[in-house]
Amino acid sequence: LDPIHVIGGGLAGCEAAWQIARAGVAVVLHEMRPVRPTDAHKTDALAELVCSNSFRSDEASTNAVGVLHREMRAMNSLIMACADANQVPAGGALAVDREGFAGAVTAALESDRTITLRREEISLPAAEWDNVVIATGPLTSQALAETIGGLTGEDQLAFFDAIAPIAHFDSIDMDKAWFQSRYDKAGPGGTGADYINCPLDRDQYEAFIDALLEGEKTAFKDFEKTPYFDGCLPIEVMAERGRETLRHGPMKPFGLTNPHNPTQKAYAVVQLRQDNALGTLYNMVGFQTKLTYGAQIKAFRTIPGLERAEFARLGGLHRNTFLNSPRVLDSRLRLKADPRLRFAGQITGCEGYVESAAVGLIAGRMAAAERLGGVLAPPPPTTAIGALINHITGGHIETIDAGPQSFQPMNVNFGLFPPLEIAPTSPEGKRLRGPEKAQAKKRAISARADADLKAWLGVV
Ligand code: FAD
Repeated sequence: LDPIHVIGGGLAGCEAAWQIARAGVAVVLHEMRPVRPTDAHKTDALAELVCSNSFRSDEASTNAVGVLHREMRAMNSLIMACADANQVPAGGALAVDREGFAGAVTAALESDRTITLRREEISLPAAEWDNVVIATGPLTSQALAETIGGLTGEDQLAFFDAIAPIAHFDSIDMDKAWFQSRYDKAGPGGTGADYINCPLDRDQYEAFIDALLEGEKTAFKDFEKTPYFDGCLPIEVMAERGRETLRHGPMKPFGLTNPHNPTQKAYAVVQLRQDNALGTLYNMVGFQTKLTYGAQIKAFRTIPGLERAEFARLGGLHRNTFLNSPRVLDSRLRLKADPRLRFAGQITGCEGYVESAAVGLIAGRMAAAERLGGVLAPPPPTTAIGALINHITGGHIETIDAGPQSFQPMNVNFGLFPPLEIAPTSPEGKRLRGPEKAQAKKRAISARADADLKAWLGVV
């Protein structure tokens, strides 16, 4: 059998290569470092962690990334095995000795005779390679990015995240917020009530602007300098340009009537738009920001309706190369325009070390299955890995005016899982409320994921 070619020896590429080798299929792993460095990596090691040394929570009953850890361990993940073997104390989190971790991954792959490691930059996958996994990450080299952009169309490959914060729907207070599209406009597929609106009076607006101006900001890394383009200015930069700018931009109050208070016009309105097909997540429209996470939570919870908002992700703006995957990839992570190319890791629109490795794991197994003459369907969306793949390949909705770049990378979170069919109750069968209800829901989603992954593994 011809080998499978994996491009990129990061978190996703290493996991993909390992999984392919476990299926008995030969792999060539192409990593460009040290021949060509990136702006963030500092060593030649495979699976280098470029920033934090944390794989986040290891708690699987109420934390979505903990569920993902559990699933990856059940699927013989190299990244998880090396993380477990190089743990450092970090409370409930899984943190690692970064050199020990990357060294262990590198040694495991270098000593595996099914895997050939080539230190070279690939700018164009060779025409005779019929089964390729591209896992070149957020800092994909320019030459390969140009090739990919040529295959997908330039506007389907992004180079910066302009991330608007995303809130869990069930944490938004709908006694203060309401559903309505501006001027009740129903575009194609819309109902005229597609947005959630949060009203601010004049004092609330002025206090919000102060919070933006005074809030602590994160700095750009050297290689990220000045990526502002007028379509997606951070909200605090808009506030710096004038106190009224936001009220005439993303916070304009026009064309909206608050049914909770119909006689009083709002001074400004924050709009949230449905972010996933399940309707469990809503993004704050036009709210990309470089405020620190702490400053964001403090400022956003002053907005009426968002006082208790829980965020699936907070806003940001940073260098990242990622595909508009729901449009350009099929359900098996292959490029629709050239199905011999499969994508894995952060370039597919997941975010984070663990998520990238998880998508690498499934991409590797899918590539190996194909080489052996079979087909591997993704795990069900009720599992953490399945929920992530579903977000990447199909679960995201493109609303009327969101444009082709409305897809934004995401960490795994419970908002990506389908809601439970039956709400959990107390052991006495009573309805639960507040934090107790939220915890019970998470436990039930985690238990369902566990059962469904086992069933899927049993079948495959
Ligand atoms: P990577 O791990 O980046 O691996 C991609 C590999 O491909 C690299 O080794 C690169 O050298 C190689 N490559 C690129 N182009 C080519 C080519 N043409 N030919 C051959 N090889 C190539 N996530 C977190 O969870 N926590 C954090 O603290 C965190 N901090 C981050 C800080 C920065 C500055 C950046 C950019 C990202 C950060 N991330 C963080 C996100 C993190 O990079 C990813 O989650 C994760 O590393 C992505 O895994 P990956 O395998 O997709 O890409």
